[in-house]
Amino acid sequence: MLPNNKLVAVWSICFVPILADNWPIIFQHKLEWASSSFSSDCQSLDVVIKYYCTQSESLPFDTDDEYRRVCNDLTTEAFERYYNGEVKVGSQSYNVSISSEMLEDPSHQHFIVSKSTREECKGLSVNNVIVPSEVYHCNDIQFKYTVAHELGHGILIAADGIINSATHKGTSTLDQIARPDGQIANCDGSTTFDLMHYFPEYLPNCYDNGIRGSAFYENAKASETEIQTLVFGSIEHDGSCGRFPGSDCSVESECLPGLICLDSKCQECDDNAMCLPNQFCEDGSFLDFGFNHCRDKKPSGSPCQNNDQCVDICLANNSTCATGPLSEYP
Ligand SMILES: [Zn+2]
Repeated sequence: MLPNNKLVAVWSICFVPILADNWPIIFQHKLEWASSSFSSDCQSLDVVIKYYCTQSESLPFDTDDEYRRVCNDLTTEAFERYYNGEVKVGSQSYNVSISSEMLEDPSHQHFIVSKSTREECKGLSVNNVIVPSEVYHCNDIQFKYTVAHELGHGILIAADGIINSATHKGTSTLDQIARPDGQIANCDGSTTFDLMHYFPEYLPNCYDNGIRGSAFYENAKASETEIQTLVFGSIEHDGSCGRFPGSDCSVESECLPGLICLDSKCQECDDNAMCLPNQFCEDGSFLDFGFNHCRDKKPSGSPCQNNDQCVDICLANNSTCATGPLSEYP
């Protein structure tokens, strides 16, 4: 039998390349590839997403101009289109304005872009700062959705770890198949759906010539929870707008407007009614997040403790969110 130090050496060989740089950072709710700051009036937030783009060697674009258009213009437009919005911090809404910066630094969000020759247009990510995402360009609107989706994996990993990211917040299996009891995508424009969700089925209004069409891409949006993670995972602050979630406090006025001072910490909520209707107040101590925060209700397949945490219901027998009327389940 090998002595322990030999075993450690074997494990080190396997894991050092992964652990070396990115691992400790991405699991601490920190996004090193973005920077956020408050406007001078503390009413809005500016976020700069830093990304790195390279061209696929096997499927290059026809011209350098076309590669640059995809890599610079479309990628920037994608981040703005899907991540501009509002974050609600407790009772206060802040407008979020996204810009981006392309830097030659692979420790930022790294995308390998390819001209697609396939009929179906997809992105692949393993994902995302550790191993670059591959994004295929079939047409502009599909590319923008895909590159924004792959960026979302970087946010999900930072917020909740690899499983939540790999299962698309519980809407897919680990091998990337949509859960059969998930929400059906409806693209009539009456609602937006989560950029990161997978769907078992699409209504015909999502299709254009047999593939997902512009109606599908126009209905998608990053969720408030992901935009908030993006902001607070990357914020640089001097405290002049108020103390941030998780900071120590003795009175509420010390905290960022919208937050409460609870158990001597600035926090977002202490009951569900303080959150948006599609969210619940998550106990921060449970996830070691450090503070209570409002989080989107979870789709089918996600772990849960009670009905309030789920889009539909929480099954008592296996603590998993599921769809269906409450009366059908014990
Ligand atoms: Zn994905």
